[in-house]
Amino acid sequence: MVASMNLEDIRLNCREIMNSLPKHVSLVAAGKTRTPQQLKAAIEGGVTIIGHNYIQEAEQSIAAVADKSVHWHCIGHLQRNKVKKAAGLFDLIETVDSRRLGEALSKACAQIGKVMPIFVEVNSAQEDNKSGAAPDDVEELVRYLSQLENLRIEGLMTMGLFSPEPEVCRPCFELTRRLFDRLTEAKIAGVNMRHLSMGMSDSYQTAIEQGATMVRIGTSLFGPR
Ligand SMILES: *Cc1c(COP(=O)(O)O)cnc(C)c1O
Repeated sequence: MVASMNLEDIRLNCREIMNSLPKHVSLVAAGKTRTPQQLKAAIEGGVTIIGHNYIQEAEQSIAAVADKSVHWHCIGHLQRNKVKKAAGLFDLIETVDSRRLGEALSKACAQIGKVMPIFVEVNSAQEDNKSGAAPDDVEELVRYLSQLENLRIEGLMTMGLFSPEPEVCRPCFELTRRLFDRLTEAKIAGVNMRHLSMGMSDSYQTAIEQGATMVRIGTSLFGPR
């Protein structure tokens, strides 16, 4: 694990990890708790997508980084009373997990004339305290959300079990991949299943083996939080 957090190390970490990823896999730099200087170093290292968990932090980062070429993803649990802010700030929301959240978000996007790309978050660990839709409910949820005017479904996202041991996460990734394949084959109107976002610093290689096309990495780029 990377202990120091100087800007040159961040640039190097980003280059190294991006070079190691297969061509079809995109990197989302998980930006929570990082300074604008650190985020800018990541961008200099080749990062083009930054993920944030909290609205207020995202708002500050986006203003401070002020780089129009960066795509900002919401990767944290989104509360319904924050959808207005989220609609304006983010380029993609990875964590839509209910009809009500989708409805509220679509409405907020309609008010600002935006069609928001989204991923549906899957609770692949199947634990009650985790966010994400239950795997058995995902297809129905996707079909419902696909009819909302101002959302465009582009994939699935999952966290999996929290563990430093990647093999513990593998079944969660496998399950999410099967759902992804099933939804792709279902060819639902308006749904473009092009991304499967799964895997973090400790588990991204396993996630890629299981079919991830997008990995969300914080610690291995920036050092420990
Ligand atoms: C923080 C975070 C990550 C990255 O975690 P690391 O272990 O630091 O790589 C990925 N996804 C989400 C949703 C996160 O909040």
